[in-house]
Amino acid sequence: MAWDFDYLIVGAGFSGLTMAERLATQMGATCLVVERRGHIGGNAYDRYDDHGVLIHAYGPHYFRTNSPRIREYLSQFTDWHPVDYKILSWTHGAYWPFPINLNTFEQLIGKPSTPEEMVATLDQWKVRIEAPTNSEDLILSQVGRRLYEQFFEGYTLKQWHRHPRELDASVCGRIPIRTNRDDRYLTEDFQALPTAGYTRLFERMLAACGNRAKILLHTDYREVMPHVNFHHMIYTGPVDEYFDHCEGRLPYRSLRFESESFTAGQLTSRASISRKKGFWQPAMQVNFPNDHAYTRIVEIKHATGQLCENSTIVREYPEDFGPGKEAYYPIPAADAATLYARYKARADAEKTTSFIGRLATYKYYNMDQIVGMALAEFEKIRRATSP
Ligand SMILES: Cc1cc2nc3c(=O)[nH]c(=O)nc-3n(C[C@H](O)[C@H](O)[C@H](O)COP(=O)(O)OP(=O)(O)OC[C@H]3O[C@@H](n4cnc5c(N)ncnc54)[C@H](O)[C@@H]3O)c2cc1C
Repeated sequence: MAWDFDYLIVGAGFSGLTMAERLATQMGATCLVVERRGHIGGNAYDRYDDHGVLIHAYGPHYFRTNSPRIREYLSQFTDWHPVDYKILSWTHGAYWPFPINLNTFEQLIGKPSTPEEMVATLDQWKVRIEAPTNSEDLILSQVGRRLYEQFFEGYTLKQWHRHPRELDASVCGRIPIRTNRDDRYLTEDFQALPTAGYTRLFERMLAACGNRAKILLHTDYREVMPHVNFHHMIYTGPVDEYFDHCEGRLPYRSLRFESESFTAGQLTSRASISRKKGFWQPAMQVNFPNDHAYTRIVEIKHATGQLCENSTIVREYPEDFGPGKEAYYPIPAADAATLYARYKARADAEKTTSFIGRLATYKYYNMDQIVGMALAEFEKIRRATSP
């Protein structure tokens, strides 16, 4: 016996669930959502750990957007807890404000300064490079070698296992350089986390679909394909997997997360370091560009605002991608782009499958951009199917 659905949706992350919600509620379509992990939410999934702390299971997910449309769309499924995401960098035996700003500069020169002095000094330190095309040249052209080596070079090498000069300028270019005292990590207008967490948001998106959407967890879509009749597939998995790696395997960077939890008593003894009762470290995220094998330690309780006397930190170790590893970051380099272009040509030729999301388009996108991509794809489908 075969199941009949209008749409087969592969993956229950932001892209798959946005499509399911729109197709079910706006077009009355039936959707089978197939997810090979044991939970919904993709990489944005969060959960309470054994110490009662709400953690982001696949690395910290700082929601931000400049798009009122995307914010309004998601606000149907969640309230928001506003956050100024703050991070520090640990290097040369001290915590430093990061991204680089006037406070970082003052710590570096060991005296109070002004934006004018910082601009003039950076101007002397900058390496004159016309139109930088890689990450090393971009940062050298913005702040010079000393700051590049202190904050960027080691972190990027650890994160990507490639030298910054082999990576697109956009990799380090994502990090702002400021000459004022704005020490927020991000620049978007709206910066907030779902008040009850991402997983609750996803549950509400599915609930909105009513009985028009069915979800299968722990299931690879290839297992169900022979048993489902459908008109169109929304594919949010890895594009090279869809085509049986016929052009070769796309490279990715993977991660290993190591968590450690602390009770209220243990946290008390950290008070002089964390500067805040009930926390282990002084900021939500501390980067380690030059020390340790991990790139960062995240204590997400700083951002979630959860009232919990325990706390959990997560150390993030970049790893090579291979069998049994999750594909986290597409590699932003020319060789990978060339290989992806061959898969894109194949994907464009598939008329009954939409390829959306970070894995199917082989590009790092923030969550709001992924939601925007899914909303645009939905509109395209609606236009194509309306009489
Ligand atoms: C470490 C890390 C930190 C991040 N931090 C931020 C942040 O701070 N802010 C931000 O805006 N964005 C962040 N992102 C990006 C964010 O995770 C993505 O934008 C978003 O999760 C992408 O959603 P998606 O649905 O495209 O992919 P995913 O969330 O990966 O969902 C795809 C789903 O498809 C499933 N799947 C794949 N293949 C199959 C198959 N064959 N059968 C069944 N199911 C399948 C997968 O299991 C997965 O659950 C971060 C990403 C990472 C890796």
